[in-house]
Amino acid sequence: MPLLAALAVSASLTLGPAASPPAARDPGVLLRGKVVTMNDAGDVWPDAGLWIRSGRIEAVVRAGSPLPAGARSARVVESGGVIYPGLIDLHNHPAHAAYPLMPVGKAYEDRYEWRFYDDAYDRRITYSEFVLASPDYYDLAAELGRYGEYKALAGGTTSLQGADDGLPSSARGCLVRNVETADVGPRRAVSRVDLGRDAREWADLARAQKDGVLVLHLAEGTGERMADEYRAVERSGLVGPRLVAVHGVGLTADQLGDMAARGAGLVWSPLSNFLLYGTTTDVAAAKAAGLDVSLAPDWAPSGSKSVLGELKVADLVNKHRLNGLFTDRELAQAVTRNPARALGWDRRAGRLAAGYVPDLVVLDDRNADPYRNLIEATEENVRLVSVAGDMLYGDEPVMARARATPDVEPAARFPGDRVKVMAGDCPGTDLPPMPLTETRDRLQRALAMDPRFLLDRVGPKPESVRRIRAELARCPGGEPPGELTPPDIQRVLSCRLGLPFEETRLSALTTYEDPEWMNRLVANPNLPAYLKALPDYYRRQ
Ligand SMILES: [Zn+2]
Repeated sequence: MPLLAALAVSASLTLGPAASPPAARDPGVLLRGKVVTMNDAGDVWPDAGLWIRSGRIEAVVRAGSPLPAGARSARVVESGGVIYPGLIDLHNHPAHAAYPLMPVGKAYEDRYEWRFYDDAYDRRITYSEFVLASPDYYDLAAELGRYGEYKALAGGTTSLQGADDGLPSSARGCLVRNVETADVGPRRAVSRVDLGRDAREWADLARAQKDGVLVLHLAEGTGERMADEYRAVERSGLVGPRLVAVHGVGLTADQLGDMAARGAGLVWSPLSNFLLYGTTTDVAAAKAAGLDVSLAPDWAPSGSKSVLGELKVADLVNKHRLNGLFTDRELAQAVTRNPARALGWDRRAGRLAAGYVPDLVVLDDRNADPYRNLIEATEENVRLVSVAGDMLYGDEPVMARARATPDVEPAARFPGDRVKVMAGDCPGTDLPPMPLTETRDRLQRALAMDPRFLLDRVGPKPESVRRIRAELARCPGGEPPGELTPPDIQRVLSCRLGLPFEETRLSALTTYEDPEWMNRLVANPNLPAYLKALPDYYRRQ
């Protein structure tokens, strides 16, 4: 074998399983724009291009460099923007993406206070979730999962943590990659919200970590009870390179230092922390200890709509509370290469280079500094999002050039008739198409506890009707003699679950479309004054 060919073979072997197909097949796409590589050197190449073919980046072509032979017949797509690695969201609960921001009336000490002892939370989230997802009620588990993916894409996210494995589309990574199921790195993530309560549960966590990277909620709140959580995790032998701690609000500087020394990762979700607890993680101590910090939004009921939104929160916290401790480039790393490294994906994701996955987001070029440009971009500025080379979301004209097939639907409309379109199919899966418009409509009707819609959903399912009748038998008025009617449905929801609790509007896809999100945010009593400047990022320039 000639030396050059041998080198090429060994390069493709070390770069993972996506070997190049014969060049005669699909020539792929040459996506042109300013390329922000997020590599170690911080290279940014204007007027460059990414040659994308068969689910991988074949080459990054710099201005003035000759095109690789195979790329000459590739379809050229002028993005007109700045190309970044797709954002990796290492802390979310996409099944809850449909919910609006919760009104919060007080500062909680820790997550156990609102999760287990707050009746409003139960009725607003837990019971609503049951009614929306249960096959005997609205049966919208698939829609809930898919909506979480749609929202992620609208914010430039290409990989998502926290998909509930009970939800069919999200667990299988219909549109975005799920870190729990994607095979980008040598291991998959295993996500857990709760610590062990007994020896058996701790052993289960240890077993999960043996096979994968354990992404674990830890010390979400303040006080000694939270610092104790770390001691328990430490005693169970879980602290190491295969632990990613989510939140860590209550971790001491020593504990953060210990995590760094042992190679563990940390995910920071400042907005959710401030809204619920009035404070956040000691990321200054984390940084001083050399801990890699990833930034992620937590979830819709108490967080940003996406990683892109959370970047603005981090920017304000960095400016006003941390005295500019993080550079703009470091904040950009916290949503790209840091989460990739935490997952063990750093040789194939989180930056743009040959051999890496073509997960990327293209943004408007509004600021000469590419990292500031990312931090200040809103959903309006998202021109294109690609997952594995599939162009799934973006501006209508860019998508028309980038996507081989025209199977998209309008997703959001910004002033000046700037329309974003979404591709709702699930490439490579047998999941049914689920148009965004229909998904939104179904979820909104269910959130409004529309009784007729529930009857439509359960009508063809005699077993579900039987179960609802059995529930009614336990309510005042008892089981109805005839067919179920809308008042019967209202009666069972009210009597068994205390629903509807309040008027609930579907959380819109983008921040721009959702003034209620901003109103509830600035009304939150736990929010530091400087975070009330958050709407400024969304004022149109
Ligand atoms: Zn969480």
